[in-house]
Amino acid sequence: MATQPTDAETALDPTDPYAREAQTFPRLTPEQARRVAAFGEEVGFDGATLVFERGQRSVDFYLVLEGGIEIFDLDDHGDPNVFTVHGERQFTGELDLFNDRQILVSGRTTPGTRAVRVRRADFRRMVTAEPDIGEIVMRAFILRRVGLIRHGQGGVVLVGSLHAAATLRLQRFLTRNGYPHRLLDTDQDPDAEGFLTCFELTPDQLPVVIMPDERVLRNPTNAAVADELGITERFDPAQVHDLAVVGAGPAGLAAAVYAASEGLTTIVIEGEAPGGQAGTSSKIENYLGFPTGISGQALAGRAQTQAQKFGARLAVSRHVVGLDCDRRPYRLVLDDGGEVAARAIVVATGARYRRLDVEGHDRFEGQGLHYAATAMESQLCRDEEVVVVGGGNSAGQAAVFLAGHARHVHILVRGEGLAATMSDYLIQRISASPKITLHAHSEITALRGDAILREVTWTDRRTGESETRPIGNVFLMIGAAPNTGWVDGCLELDDKGFVLTGRAGDGTPLPSPYMTSRPGIFAVGDVRSGSVKRVASGVGEGSVVVQAIHAYLAGAEA
Ligand SMILES: Cc1cc2nc3c(=O)[nH]c(=O)nc-3n(C[C@H](O)[C@H](O)[C@H](O)COP(=O)(O)OP(=O)(O)OC[C@H]3O[C@@H](n4cnc5c(N)ncnc54)[C@H](O)[C@@H]3O)c2cc1C
Repeated sequence: MATQPTDAETALDPTDPYAREAQTFPRLTPEQARRVAAFGEEVGFDGATLVFERGQRSVDFYLVLEGGIEIFDLDDHGDPNVFTVHGERQFTGELDLFNDRQILVSGRTTPGTRAVRVRRADFRRMVTAEPDIGEIVMRAFILRRVGLIRHGQGGVVLVGSLHAAATLRLQRFLTRNGYPHRLLDTDQDPDAEGFLTCFELTPDQLPVVIMPDERVLRNPTNAAVADELGITERFDPAQVHDLAVVGAGPAGLAAAVYAASEGLTTIVIEGEAPGGQAGTSSKIENYLGFPTGISGQALAGRAQTQAQKFGARLAVSRHVVGLDCDRRPYRLVLDDGGEVAARAIVVATGARYRRLDVEGHDRFEGQGLHYAATAMESQLCRDEEVVVVGGGNSAGQAAVFLAGHARHVHILVRGEGLAATMSDYLIQRISASPKITLHAHSEITALRGDAILREVTWTDRRTGESETRPIGNVFLMIGAAPNTGWVDGCLELDDKGFVLTGRAGDGTPLPSPYMTSRPGIFAVGDVRSGSVKRVASGVGEGSVVVQAIHAYLAGAEA
């Protein structure tokens, strides 16, 4: 039973997982419970026993037979805050049961509890062997994580100004890694001052991340947060993986799902957070099977869970900085000095955003200049005017999305219009919206402000006329350049730096359209020369490349 949604309003909200108790905290039938019991061992607890504790890794799965297991985190005073009690035929766990991350909550028994303990390896076997139970468990785990995020349970507190680039960076990192957190915006939140006094913090030390054990991380790097919170999965540096996938955008995640599900030992190394460029999209409407659209974040979260369900390991916040391609197995060099060895490699590092060639870009990056338009950024421009730069689909989506929040959206394009670069459905929505104005032949020529962006000037390239408006948020959707610096010297690239595949240096066709000039190294998605830069094509390439990897590994072993 879910005992504590934080307020009556959210408890009644049908989108709140805690209001969907039968799915979030399901009770198995006696027959299903008997099948689960076959994978574990029965254990009895005399009194209130701590079964697992926040911060542990690799905990087991428990199905309650009698009594109960209370799930709790600690409140601001360090006291247990029980938010659900699993009773007879209900089970423990959430998404971290599919990976090796540190768990978010603790569990303790009520007196006289009996349960079935299913060890991790057996849990995986059970989910595969009993698909009806696997489906109930998977749905419950996803909903539980959504509930934790929604209610800020089992998470950390981020304290800082929402207008500061470092606060936005940390919030984005926690959000995109699906880590529950509560933001105390020092510009707005009445509780913020009390927090600063209590932790003896001064404004120049912000932003800070306050851990559940009250440790304070002062303006930490993303990698430091990932390490402290156990977001990165550990891996054995001595292990040689069948496959290392570099980049967890749609293409890399698809490769991981197919490779892991087909029995290859697979590790994914991601510099930031799963999802890649797609993870920054507020709504993807042209991906097959989602007629009402899906946010890039939700798509990435599901794909990550799917890959981990099949046993892929995910090391996030680890940048690959080099590739040793002279030795076999190949070795990837990480920014923390570590190495990952693999027989085959999939390069899926996509592309990074282009920047404005205007003075002030560096100063206002994250302080008014954004590369994504998600719910997070939309909070910053409520009832204000904003600018979207670019004429592609990502710019169109951003403009349509932001028009729902901002007072007015100005789209700036250098060209004649949108017809040659944007999908027709977006063009129609833009022209139908009284809140969006298209400025053709225009580009930004000045950015002004103090600590944050306050004023933007754009100029009509044909007439030379300029317009300056009080605008604090500009969304840059002007394309991207490939992330291939780390493969330098190992793989052949085209003149723009994208990885060439499918043909050897002398023009001979290679066995796979995704194989690079090095046997066993493949490239998929946006990073590949000539690829179609879309989610579906990246997913397609990531999925089918696995067949070529099998063929390569079989040949290498023969
Ligand atoms: C705002 C926006 C909206 C979009 N909307 C749509 C849409 O509606 N429909 C559609 O089909 N397409 C859309 N696209 C395009 C689509 O998102 C991309 O084509 C797709 O994400 C490409 O996938 P990918 O996996 O090849 O690369 P990416 O998504 O770029 O992912 C690459 C990943 O590799 C990681 N990485 C890079 N270098 C390293 C390194 N050295 N070490 C470790 N990790 C590294 C990055 O952090 C990133 O996570 C949109 C793009 C944007 C920016």
